Amino acid sequence: MRPLEEALKIVLDNTKVLGTERIPLQDTYGRVLGEDVYSSLYLPPWDNSAMDGYAVKWEDIREASQDRPAKLHIMGDLRAGGMPDKSVRNGEAIRIMTGAPVPGGADTVVRVEDTKFEGNIVSIFRSGKMGENVRKKGENVRKGDLVLKTGTTIGSGQLGSMAMVGKPLVTVYRKPVVMVMSTGDELADLDEDLTENKIPNSNSYAVASQVSEAGGIPHILGIARDTKESLREKIGQGLAGDVLIVSGGVSVGQYDFVKDILKEYGIDMKFWSVGIKPGHPIAFGLVGERPVFGLPGNPVSTMVTFEVFARPVLLKMGGHPLFFRPLVDAVAEEEFHDRPGRTHFVRAIVRYKDGKYLVRSTGTQGSGVLMSMAYANSFMVLSSDKEKVLPGEVVKVQLLGGPVNYE
Ligand code: AMP
Ligand code: MG
Repeated sequence: MRPLEEALKIVLDNTKVLGTERIPLQDTYGRVLGEDVYSSLYLPPWDNSAMDGYAVKWEDIREASQDRPAKLHIMGDLRAGGMPDKSVRNGEAIRIMTGAPVPGGADTVVRVEDTKFEGNIVSIFRSGKMGENVRKKGENVRKGDLVLKTGTTIGSGQLGSMAMVGKPLVTVYRKPVVMVMSTGDELADLDEDLTENKIPNSNSYAVASQVSEAGGIPHILGIARDTKESLREKIGQGLAGDVLIVSGGVSVGQYDFVKDILKEYGIDMKFWSVGIKPGHPIAFGLVGERPVFGLPGNPVSTMVTFEVFARPVLLKMGGHPLFFRPLVDAVAEEEFHDRPGRTHFVRAIVRYKDGKYLVRSTGTQGSGVLMSMAYANSFMVLSSDKEKVLPGEVVKVQLLGGPVNYE
């Protein structure tokens, strides 16, 4: 049985980043940049007004006060989208709207709130500072500036910044295509009748959603029966993608042929047993350059082993720079007993109260009890030598990205 850290290193060392593709900007949310993005323009392109008000020469208003306003001639109007056709001279002002280019001669904008106009004369009651309310050309970005680096994960801020510099097409890393396959004579798919000897195939759906969350494109291949012929056929189809994930049939039962068939397809098996709980046994290898996972069939084991091993692989393939969930310290709310020997991923509920995280298990932790995943927003990660967690003890908790209650 390999220690978890060692197995994870093997998995990541054997994972290659995929190539890139060019896609429309609006489709890039959640993707990873495959190019450095430079600005081809100055933003703002010209000095412009940050306020609705009057563009003036500051020297004309430096003495202005509530009692002794400066009085200037209004020479025209400038709105956002317009361009100045005259300059401001001494004794003059141009009425200007937010975003409009500041006309030549003017160096300052006075807010409308600090003025009052009558006819074409504006009274200015406050001097302010020279240059006030003027946004300088290029203060946001300048032509040739590096806006975003290769390897940046694209969220809304990054996407907006690329729109800002007028970029319609973006080079991003490709998403891994992940074949998802279940095995078992006892399984019925969701569109099949549940006869008395069958249970619903849940793994395909749980795993496919995990693939999507990790930035992959899932292809559900359906169920292979526990015969070599059926496995041979489905695994053959499954090798058409970038990654193959099989659940079930990797244990030591009489009908667990998955490893045998993977060998027929020439798998370079790296390991098939790791010291984690739930999740023993789990197989990992390469067919060509393609990572192949044989995950244990018990629904919780399947999901936990996906989370621990397959998720980082998909993130790495998709160009993401970081592969792991946030880890926080949390205070155990209750006692928890454990059998030492394997790193335990206890399905848990974490909440935030009085300045710290608190954690408790979701209850029954059997590897077939999928409700333990349904209620969880985190894993309490207990090292392999841990026998007991006492209330008040600080433990490591991996946040799964769902909502956390704040009290
Ligand atoms: P196996 O790893 O094939 O020995 O399966 C272990 C347990 O997980 C058995 O109780 C199976 O019935 C169950 N199981 C395997 N695959 C699935 C699946 N796709 N959906 C739900 N349960 C499954
Ligand atoms: Mg089975």
